[in-house]
Amino acid sequence: MSGDPWITVVGAVAAVCTTVAFVPQIVRIRRQGGRDLSYGMLLLYLAGVLLWLGYGLLIGARAVILANVAATLLVSLTLVLKWLSGRSSTKSTAAGPSRRVRIAIDMDEVIADSFGKHLRIYNQTFGQSLTRSDVIGCSLSASVPSSQSEATRQIVRAPGFFADLDEIDGGREVVRQLAERYEVFIASAAMEVPNSFADKYAWLQERFPFIDPSHIVFCGDKAILDVDYLIDDTARHFDRFRGTPILFDAPHNRSETRFRRVEGWDEVAKMFLTTPLPEGRPALATKPELPEALLDMP
Ligand SMILES: [Mg+2]
Repeated sequence: MSGDPWITVVGAVAAVCTTVAFVPQIVRIRRQGGRDLSYGMLLLYLAGVLLWLGYGLLIGARAVILANVAATLLVSLTLVLKWLSGRSSTKSTAAGPSRRVRIAIDMDEVIADSFGKHLRIYNQTFGQSLTRSDVIGCSLSASVPSSQSEATRQIVRAPGFFADLDEIDGGREVVRQLAERYEVFIASAAMEVPNSFADKYAWLQERFPFIDPSHIVFCGDKAILDVDYLIDDTARHFDRFRGTPILFDAPHNRSETRFRRVEGWDEVAKMFLTTPLPEGRPALATKPELPEALLDMP
């Protein structure tokens, strides 16, 4: 039966299919890169076709030899293309996108003194005289008698609470200078008090007019921020943040030791603004050119 023509046809079609199977893969690598292909599979496949080639040579089977020579060339080409696409993507990743360093800055307790107002209203409401040093390591509502906790929490939810906050000392000028050199975003977890949006936006427009509205982010989870640095007083916002966290000192976070802490805006200025931009340098400041002070960060 081995001499039947249909058997020869089946064998020929099978050889063509297995031999040219890598052509669609090569086309795909050219278009999309070879990241999804396994080197292990390709090398094993190459070893297989080489053994088939050796087998064909040993028994003098011309069809087996031709089919596996072609397959060897195609698999080898696939390997080379995968390697080249991997190299080019590594190079582009190392070079990094040509954009300015991005810094996200929190509002409450970083540029806006919401805690000072919260404490003041609490003292007025309950006839107390608590100071910042009485509220170390926890929130105000956790520091007061439990019978006052809920009312204390509700203070910040009152309409207009965020409309007239004092500024944190030095914040406006340092942020203005940062915005000249870096791409600065103001990022507030405003979802915690949804009715604060309008007040916070108006406050920023009045006090920080140099921050474009497109760079104001009201969000729930700051892990969504695609920035290089996040300056924030609340450590939980760093949990899944992918950039470098900078903890802005506040009474409630004094026991937090996991992150680089800054005591105030003077320290932020020393970190980001002490290295002058070389004359004639473009406004772009890519990450490797950051001030040396940042390299000492733990
Ligand atoms: Mg805050």
